[in-house]
Amino acid sequence: MLAESDLRAELVNACRVLYACGAAGDGLGGHLSARLGERILIKPRPVSWWKLTPEHLIVLDFDGKRVDQPGEPSGVKEWPIHACIYAARPDVNCVFHAHPASSTLLAALGITVEPLDQDCAALTDRLAVLDNGAVSIATPALGDEVARTLGSLSTLLIKNHGCVVAGESVAEVCVAAHKLERVAETMLRAAQLAKLPLLSPEEKAAILAARKGVEASSMNQERWRMLQDYYLDRAHD
Ligand SMILES: [Zn+2]
Repeated sequence: MLAESDLRAELVNACRVLYACGAAGDGLGGHLSARLGERILIKPRPVSWWKLTPEHLIVLDFDGKRVDQPGEPSGVKEWPIHACIYAARPDVNCVFHAHPASSTLLAALGITVEPLDQDCAALTDRLAVLDNGAVSIATPALGDEVARTLGSLSTLLIKNHGCVVAGESVAEVCVAAHKLERVAETMLRAAQLAKLPLLSPEEKAAILAARKGVEASSMNQERWRMLQDYYLDRAHD
């Protein structure tokens, strides 16, 4: 397990990459968090995804209360998304929720991901969708519903709202969040050009069968290093 200072530094890098690559949408909503034992280390609300520093991150308990500054409001309205997923999934150490435009539109239009390219294949049949009409996941009951719908998957779209990505590590979550928004862009472009579904059930099954066995989880660390390389040095300062 990473020391808290290393985890803070990694989360800050992750917030910057998620914003710069478009996975965090316009950066005006959403949060990235990491499990810190029985607590949650999370990006606070008014600080931008790009100018965030390790000291800005706040610590919540699983009831959404500030642990680092008891009694202070956290400003994190949608803390139940994070707390309920950590409670339900001991394998999850990082949770991301944001409102990126393409992923949100994909769910709003009810478009199902097809294996049109390699990234789309990785998400085909692995994308949960929750249609709960809630503007904000601000109660434990709504958070539980998110965790239940996510189940053992890593990626969930909340209809007319946004996305949730959960994973074993910060690297895994960042790679998956980047992939999700790219996949949504591809599917939206496909929907503009042709009538969906593009693939027959047989074509889809053949592509997915060919993909089986070639997915290596070690790829995530490599992709995470590349994403940092591409996005951290961009002129956003
Ligand atoms: Zn939200």
